[in-house]
Amino acid sequence: MTIHKSGYAAIIGRPNVGKSTLLNSLLGEKISITSPKPQTTRWQILGIKNFPDAQIIFIDTPGMHTGEKRAMNRYMNRIANSVLLDADVIIFMIDATNFRHEDEMVLAKLQQVEKPVILAINKIDLLENKAEILPLIEKFKDKFAFAHIIPLSVLEEQNTEALEKEIIALLPEGPALFPEDQVTDKSLRFQIAEIIREKLIQCTEEELPYATTVEVEQFKENEKITEISAIIWVERQGQKVIIIGKKGERLKKIGTLARRDIERLIDKKVFLRLWIKIKENWTDSEQALKSLGYE
Ligand code: GDP
Ligand code: MG
Repeated sequence: MTIHKSGYAAIIGRPNVGKSTLLNSLLGEKISITSPKPQTTRWQILGIKNFPDAQIIFIDTPGMHTGEKRAMNRYMNRIANSVLLDADVIIFMIDATNFRHEDEMVLAKLQQVEKPVILAINKIDLLENKAEILPLIEKFKDKFAFAHIIPLSVLEEQNTEALEKEIIALLPEGPALFPEDQVTDKSLRFQIAEIIREKLIQCTEEELPYATTVEVEQFKENEKITEISAIIWVERQGQKVIIIGKKGERLKKIGTLARRDIERLIDKKVFLRLWIKIKENWTDSEQALKSLGYE
């Protein structure tokens, strides 16, 4: 008789090491939005993967931040901390080419939890000489009692299967916790809002994405086409102008890119309307965050 295993695997690490990319790659679907800009992931995302003898529930977390003042960052810290308590296995991800002070801070947080931790050294495709990995592994062995250390490249899908195997080995015995056909705990509306936010980030410069959030206001399925309206919330008139762009071209591009991805997600034709509305200082106010559903 085979033993069935199930449990939560949290992927943690500073922004930009490749956590969301890993989740999407393992699940073969876009569950968590990714970008070269830090702080893209704002929510805790669950991704569920089934194996013949196991179910892994991945938790993708926003990067942890310390010393930041704004409410959004407090929110991110809060969930990053609770994830450490909920997980059965923790995957601590770092970038093989760039180990920084922030990584040390995450590692310091890990010293407080009594859970098995796998060190995933990502982006090894960027190393000119693969032998550079060895001293890196040696260095980390001294820093923490990792259950495993796995060098990998999520982008080139090197060693990701090995990572899954090690995770399963560390999970407790138990039945599947979610139905087999469920890939995420997030609603369709949420996924659509996240796709729009991803395009917003792609099409705009620095500052902006942080001050924006997207709310799907209407989702109406007609026979041939699904009508979706979404509001892009910004803090200031200036941000609205930036998103709209010259002669409305940027907003049009965001809409087109988002529509394509949403059509792929729901496998139907989509008519997408985007509105931009101003809500002053919402990132600064816990109240405003709550009113937008950031519980
Ligand atoms: P997160 O903030 O940790 O969730 O990081 P993301 O998943 O958003 O990834 C940040 C950036 O790193 C993106 O531009 C990814 O394409 C890139 N990236 C992720 N994994 C790899 C990898 O294995 N190799 C390389 N070269 N880039 C990667
Ligand atoms: Mg992310």
